[in-house]
Amino acid sequence: MELFDGIKYHWERLDTIVSKSYKCGFCSNEVFSEKGYFIINSTTKNRCGSVYICPSCNWPTLFTLKGTQIPGEPTGDSVLNVPDD
Ligand SMILES: [Zn+2]
Repeated sequence: MELFDGIKYHWERLDTIVSKSYKCGFCSNEVFSEKGYFIINSTTKNRCGSVYICPSCNWPTLFTLKGTQIPGEPTGDSVLNVPDD
């Protein structure tokens, strides 16, 4: 699955953050990423989540501090499993 009709792109000011292993909800690969962004609470300045960029498919996945993953891990008949065209 490609973003932007196959146009080569990158994430601006992509940071190296705390590394994380997860199963990507877009490409279904078990990945290890240390590239992403911290999400900061504007009031308290505390971190309230993070976004990781999948090294396999380059799509972003959001994690809350409680560990909720959005999108979640793919299931057997995932709706994200759309034709690649
Ligand atoms: Zn992926």
